[in-house]
Amino acid sequence: MSDARVFIGDLTRKEFRNRMQAGAIKAAVVPTGATEQHNEHLEMVHDTLHVTHMAEQAARRLHPQVVVATPIGIGYSEHWMEHIGTLTVRSEIFCEYVFDVCHSLQRAGLENILILNGHGGNVRPLMRRIDEYRDRLGVNLRFQSYWDVYDPDLVAATLENKRLPGHADEYETSTMLVLAPERVHQMDIDNPAAAQGTRQKGEKLIEPAIAGVTEILRKMIAGEEVDAPPATFQEGRRIHMLTGEPLPPTTGEARCHPLKTGPRQDRT
Ligand SMILES: [Zn+2]
Repeated sequence: MSDARVFIGDLTRKEFRNRMQAGAIKAAVVPTGATEQHNEHLEMVHDTLHVTHMAEQAARRLHPQVVVATPIGIGYSEHWMEHIGTLTVRSEIFCEYVFDVCHSLQRAGLENILILNGHGGNVRPLMRRIDEYRDRLGVNLRFQSYWDVYDPDLVAATLENKRLPGHADEYETSTMLVLAPERVHQMDIDNPAAAQGTRQKGEKLIEPAIAGVTEILRKMIAGEEVDAPPATFQEGRRIHMLTGEPLPPTTGEARCHPLKTGPRQDRT
């Protein structure tokens, strides 16, 4: 493919306008990440790089139907401020910033907008607002983390710790060993779970995430239901990221649960 540019910022206004007017662009992705401590050995840009990769690859598979907004590289990371260097914004500022980006896309004529998240701390703030934001914008606005799409059996079969995304341990170390091995500072690994990360595990886990995100976008464009509850994987089980309740093993038809105040949230 000669022109597979998917980032809006890589297009001229003329190119973007022409694609919109031709009806070529059907959906946009807004990646949300973080700049936060990732243990001793992973770089603080980790979550932003990860989610941007998933968004870009999924958009390429659906090119030219999907464009990707400039990634939001600072999220809600108040829980890691004890580790200096972490950057955070207040949750209400973060949500409103995300809203404004989505509003810009709506004003451009986008009718399908996926906020694709790569940082656990962003889930609770955005889940509180997403229904309101959808109503205000009057478009098909969805919020999912890229890991929501995983099959728990794959997670259990691939990771010794059976935990995903976890925080800077086996999963994230494994995937970064594929995406940018120079960003894994192997000499500084200081915890057993991270030490179990391998490139092979990363290779097994990246493709299903891209495929799952691609499927979300395809469904959105086709007008199909896509909502899945925010998930995390522990002990090989898929559980609700905010309430800790067990979830059915597969994503897809499950509706977003109304947000309850749960006892736990992954520090991811
Ligand atoms: Zn992370």
